[in-house]
Amino acid sequence: MNKEDLKIIFNRKKQKIERKINKKGFVKEKLIAGFNLTTFDQFYNNWFSMEKFEKGCFYCGTTNKTSEALYRIQRDGKRPDATRGGKRGKRLELDRINPNLPYDNLDNIVWCCYWCNNAKSNFFTKNEFEPIAIEIGRAIKKIMEQH
Ligand SMILES: [Zn+2]
Repeated sequence: MNKEDLKIIFNRKKQKIERKINKKGFVKEKLIAGFNLTTFDQFYNNWFSMEKFEKGCFYCGTTNKTSEALYRIQRDGKRPDATRGGKRGKRLELDRINPNLPYDNLDNIVWCCYWCNNAKSNFFTKNEFEPIAIEIGRAIKKIMEQH
């Protein structure tokens, strides 16, 4: 993970307002939660470490390298593709352990694989998700051994 790639990930997670026009022609605005007060430099200096990144998914331990390999297996057509058109799963994502806290609370941000992020959603707490994550990690390891 270099600084430029991290910046891309960070910028995608900036808070924004999504505007959509509904069937009646009205503009609907929706706040998409993300980093609001935190600058990239603050994020980089106070949160990022190569060591943390190399540990992989906070929940199941899947590394970025494994995530990329799984992504390729799907995109090659060797497995059903769950990458949402190639948009997800290529690399580790940023997750809020507690989704009720703002992104600016950096202690609450962790690296997370796509599969854990998807399964945890905004529903399970960290403790509730723990046994699920262990099984996701096991399943991913098994898949990697088969390819
Ligand atoms: Zn995971």
